[in-house]
Amino acid sequence: MATALATRLSRSLQSRLLLTYVALMVLSVGGLILWTGQRLQAAAIEQAEHNLELEAFIIADALREPLDKWAQGENSEGRSPQSLVRSYAESAGGRVTVTDAGLRVLFSSDERVPTHNEESHPEFVAARAGREQHDIRRDEWSGEERLFVAASVSEEDRKVLGFVQLSVPMAPIYAEIRQTWLSLFVVGGIALIITALISLVLAHQIARPVQALTVITEQIAAGRLERRVTPAGPDEIQRLGQAFNRMAERVQEMLAQQQAFVANAAHELRSPLTSLRLRLEMLQMHAHGDADLTRHYLRQMEREVDRLRRLVDHLLALSALDEGKRPSCTPLDLAPLLYALVDEMGPLARQADLDLCVDVPPHLPPVMANAEQMHIVVRNLLDNAMKYTPAGGRITLRATTADLKQRSSGAAGRGGLASGPLDLNTSGQKAAVVIEVADTGIGIPAEALSHIFERFYRVDRAWSRRQGGAGLGLALVRAIVEAHGGHVKVGSQPGQGSVFTVLLPTSETSGATGS
Ligand code: ADP
Repeated sequence: MATALATRLSRSLQSRLLLTYVALMVLSVGGLILWTGQRLQAAAIEQAEHNLELEAFIIADALREPLDKWAQGENSEGRSPQSLVRSYAESAGGRVTVTDAGLRVLFSSDERVPTHNEESHPEFVAARAGREQHDIRRDEWSGEERLFVAASVSEEDRKVLGFVQLSVPMAPIYAEIRQTWLSLFVVGGIALIITALISLVLAHQIARPVQALTVITEQIAAGRLERRVTPAGPDEIQRLGQAFNRMAERVQEMLAQQQAFVANAAHELRSPLTSLRLRLEMLQMHAHGDADLTRHYLRQMEREVDRLRRLVDHLLALSALDEGKRPSCTPLDLAPLLYALVDEMGPLARQADLDLCVDVPPHLPPVMANAEQMHIVVRNLLDNAMKYTPAGGRITLRATTADLKQRSSGAAGRGGLASGPLDLNTSGQKAAVVIEVADTGIGIPAEALSHIFERFYRVDRAWSRRQGGAGLGLALVRAIVEAHGGHVKVGSQPGQGSVFTVLLPTSETSGATGS
């Protein structure tokens, strides 16, 4: 349990950041404290030694005359060397011991120091050799650790009269050093606590928005698509939050579109199926032996099956385009394809008492296109024109070449409504083949013009359904044309007719490639 918590903590972004900051701080502050402490400690001892040596020299200098006189057995007028040694020791705050030139102790401010030879201690050895050297050791008479220095008492002619040893206990020096270390640790500790607090705030500021983002992501993954993050924290993380929200928005939109598409598709499939089922029931119940009635129902059923096939074809074609499947394209002269379509549609137009006019040159500049898909595009436009033009009307199929540099974006078609966000000439294309399907039919109301390329959109639902339309034809036209790097527009006057214009870049300028 405890290890699991520790693992969790060490894995979380916040604790990792915090641990990193604190570890860096401990290393840097700790290193600084150690270095400074060592320097201060060395400086304190050095200072104490220096002061002691200075005092030893002063005492040695002051003792020269009294010692000389004492050695010569003269009775000094002033104080005896012993009392002088005591008073010097008192003012130096330590112990003063005087030896003769042979290092035999003569006087000491400390009564515990007996008369003995002092030949072995380093400060005396150095003083006898004319050097200065201190020594820190446990004192054999008092048992405490002391700092020792020694200085020679010499006459002016350099004759050595004796030596002065000055020593102080180390305890006060050590106490001062301990105090210094303590102060350093307190300052370091405070700096560490402040850094840890600041690091905690910083780590929190970085980690909290990331945690919030994770929570929201998990909620979205669990199906709550409406959830969004509130961008917070450093700039980069705020931008991440905003981008995340945009992505979630888009996903939600796409999902809604997909759901609507599936619901619409199911709805559209249901009506021909219901109608087929009805006809079948009628056939079973009423048409026994009645050949005319049977033929009548079969004809109706054939129409429904055609409608179903058309619907499924459109759905499949749209879904292939949605998946990003690029049609395989070859350089194509559209003129023969257009003539073939007119031949195909001619009888139907005549049947519907419509005048189908063609204004297409024998050849058109090649466009990079898929023939089958171009057939679907023009066939759908002609189908619509025939569906929405009353008997006696005229349908014109026109094809030309356009120099896009000279065309303005709204030039093609009356009303000039564009289906896509870009006009061809804004995307660097130079020439295009323009196909127009114009009719003198019922036209399209202005408010519907911007919707007619949407999936399942129909101006008059009931009328269009009776005509066998599901509102997918124009959506498919647009998807195919745009997959070819082209563009489709519509212009219409209600009661007068409509013009659908398809612009396809010629193969020299086309961006479409075969797949
Ligand atoms: P449908 O298969 O229902 O015809 P489309 O996507 O082909 O679906 O067309 C969408 C809608 O645009 C139609 O329902 C119709 O209202 C309108 N429309 C399309 N072409 C024409 C046209 N030539 N004249 C008048 N209205 C048209």
